[in-house]
Amino acid sequence: MKTNFYNTPKSQTMIWNPNKECMSRDEMSELQGRRLHKIVDYVYHHVPFYRNKLQSMDLTPDDIRTIDDITKLPFTTKQDLRDNYPFGLQAAPQSEIIRIHASSGTTGNPTIVGYTRKDIGIWNECMARSLTAYGVGRDDIFSVSYGYGLFTGGLGAHNGVETIGAAVVPASTGNTEKHAKLIRDLGITGIACTPSYALYLAETMEKMGITKEQTRLRIGAFGAEPWTEQMRTEIQERLGLKGYNLYGLSEIMGPSVSYECVCQHGSHINEDHFYPEIINPQTLERLPDGETGELVFTTLTKEGMPVLRYRTRDLCSILPGQCSCGRTSVRMGRIAGRSDDMLIIRGINVFPSQVESVVLSSPEFAPRYMLIVDRVNNLDTLLVQVELRQEVFTSTFDTPTAINKLEQHLAAKLKSVLSIGAKVQIKAPNTIERSQGKSAHVIDKRQM
Ligand code: ADP
Ligand code: ZN
Repeated sequence: MKTNFYNTPKSQTMIWNPNKECMSRDEMSELQGRRLHKIVDYVYHHVPFYRNKLQSMDLTPDDIRTIDDITKLPFTTKQDLRDNYPFGLQAAPQSEIIRIHASSGTTGNPTIVGYTRKDIGIWNECMARSLTAYGVGRDDIFSVSYGYGLFTGGLGAHNGVETIGAAVVPASTGNTEKHAKLIRDLGITGIACTPSYALYLAETMEKMGITKEQTRLRIGAFGAEPWTEQMRTEIQERLGLKGYNLYGLSEIMGPSVSYECVCQHGSHINEDHFYPEIINPQTLERLPDGETGELVFTTLTKEGMPVLRYRTRDLCSILPGQCSCGRTSVRMGRIAGRSDDMLIIRGINVFPSQVESVVLSSPEFAPRYMLIVDRVNNLDTLLVQVELRQEVFTSTFDTPTAINKLEQHLAAKLKSVLSIGAKVQIKAPNTIERSQGKSAHVIDKRQM
């Protein structure tokens, strides 16, 4: 068990591994450069896919010496992973693989990822850094309500909690009433789950008459799907905790590729293991800090399935400047959406997260919404369904004119943010489907 907790002067929060999380920029770049050379050499000699790619570009591992040389390397796409299904990109021999996960397949066939014992150790370390940054310690009782199974969320978070020595409650999803009861009865202090599940849990607790004052909840590790600041405020308020971002993807590792600290301003990337770049997805050019583009990661230490310049399709920016928590690692902003979540409606790019922030900035609406896109007479249409909050429902639902007014008001707000007109349909409370894992917010009938 690790005991090397340190206090940092500025925030008084613990840092799991200050040697790595607080390195000077020069030391970090030097470490990244060394590791990059090593990983390129490794895949060159163990993965025919990469050897062929590098040879076709006239590159050898000796051409990659510093971290800046990374731009010489080819990109890897989700399609490459699918084309090499299931084990084509695996670098370690099968005898070294101790666990296999599959991505949840939100956007297509799953991709298979094998981990060596060393990979699992690094993953646990990264999860421990994240949880420690949220303020989780050995006295906490932490429930994990990401799905256990092929999805990396459950086991990834679970092992992290054990690594720091807190007590893990492997609640998983489903059976939410029992979970709510345990939260109250065991004095559970933290929870890891998707933001949508956190809301579902809040609703379930409210229905059961369990108040936040009856619980000891104080920390939430939320991720696996995009969420907005408005959603954070909502969850924090209803569950009576502080909600922190946890980001990751199975192709790179799983949850804890990056994590927020108590400053709640951007997520620190475990950049000694996962080197980030932001590119323009059209020109593939690298973008400077502060500009939004597609997030690309190179795994610097992975043995099972290392990837070079993997295009995540997640859109965000690297935040300029240093965080006041004492960590020096670079931070990424919120994920605005996935490039494959982006809807093109009448030629305009629309992200579900834009709708989410508008809906949640109106106090009448519950944090539930659905975008239904269709094509009528060759014209794209957007219908946004929203749900009234219970307390508003009882007082106004009998007056259709009030509902009508609300619909028009929201439609006008959406128009000013999205730059396209949307029809709004207000629904009664609890009528939009709840999700326990990653939630779906879009039905695109144009593709059906
Ligand atoms: P799949 O691609 O099948 O969903 P994963 O289960 O590995 O595979 O999910 C990883 C993806 O989930 C990320 O690429 C990202 O789009 C999304 N994601 C994970 N964590 C977050 C987060 N904190 N904020 C926004 N999106 C996230
Ligand atoms: Zn910080």
